[in-house]
Amino acid sequence: MEKTVNIVIAGPRGNMGREAVKLVENTATFNLVAVVDSKHEGKKLSDLDNFPTVHVPIFINMETCFQEHDVDVLIDLTAPQFGKKHMEIAFQYGVSPVVGTTGFTEEDIVELRQLAETKGIGAIIAPNFAIGAILMMKFSQLAAKYMADVEIIERHHDRKLDAPSGTALKTAQLISEVRDEKKQGHEDETEELAGARGGDIEGMRIHSVRLPGLVAHQEVIFGGEGQTLTIRHDSINRASFMPGVKLAVETVLKIDTLVYGLEQIIE
Ligand code: NAP
Repeated sequence: MEKTVNIVIAGPRGNMGREAVKLVENTATFNLVAVVDSKHEGKKLSDLDNFPTVHVPIFINMETCFQEHDVDVLIDLTAPQFGKKHMEIAFQYGVSPVVGTTGFTEEDIVELRQLAETKGIGAIIAPNFAIGAILMMKFSQLAAKYMADVEIIERHHDRKLDAPSGTALKTAQLISEVRDEKKQGHEDETEELAGARGGDIEGMRIHSVRLPGLVAHQEVIFGGEGQTLTIRHDSINRASFMPGVKLAVETVLKIDTLVYGLEQIIE
């Protein structure tokens, strides 16, 4: 029989957190032991709206939570300024983090990977848990081998804190593995309005749109002589991310290093 995975979710009231609570509650081999929230210390999740049957304790202090409960996996879906700290606390208590929170820098990833390897604990950070988005990134990397002029337009809801999105950065990183640095546009191009040409990664341009009504969307547009190619992905609700979260939880206890990007575990 499969072993039950004891899980803590950080950020359970958020858009992603609410879906993750549903996922854990509806998966026979997952057991939600507690949640970490920014408020409501001492209450139960069932005391809040949306979770009438989920009688697990709420902690504000993650360390106290890990001291009082036997936890295998932390699912972190909070805010960019907390993701790294939460991972460090998880490592300290031997808990494997599965992190959807975005906003990590390349230096953060290097530091956290070292920490995971020193402790021998598995960890997964996935800027995008939607399988379709992973395919969009992979197809974009393939296209960039043949079409080096590329601009990324990512569109998200207006509550998103970080820009550009983790997915756009990850896409640019995958493309840069197969594309030499190249300045795009006219060599004498000027910006009459700062930021009009978007952010610049090795000459690739990234544009971030924030509007109510959007969830998470990205277009990767390639241009060549007499042709363009557009690769597009849309997450139309947060349930789209949950099969990826499930796969990450099932995988993280079988590894002893940090994996960055769901595409690393899909193959
Ligand atoms: P959200 O709706 O703002 O939810 C975040 C939740 O985390 C809020 O309930 C917030 O509480 C809580 N929180 C903030 N700081 C906390 C802390 N230190 N400890 C515990 N809880 C804390 O955001 P969301 O849309 O769910 O997104 C959450 C994160 O996931 C963001 O970084 C977002 O970019 C990322 N994301 C990732 C994916 C993916 O596929 N990887 C997809 C969508 C979003 P308060 O409101 O009280 O601050």
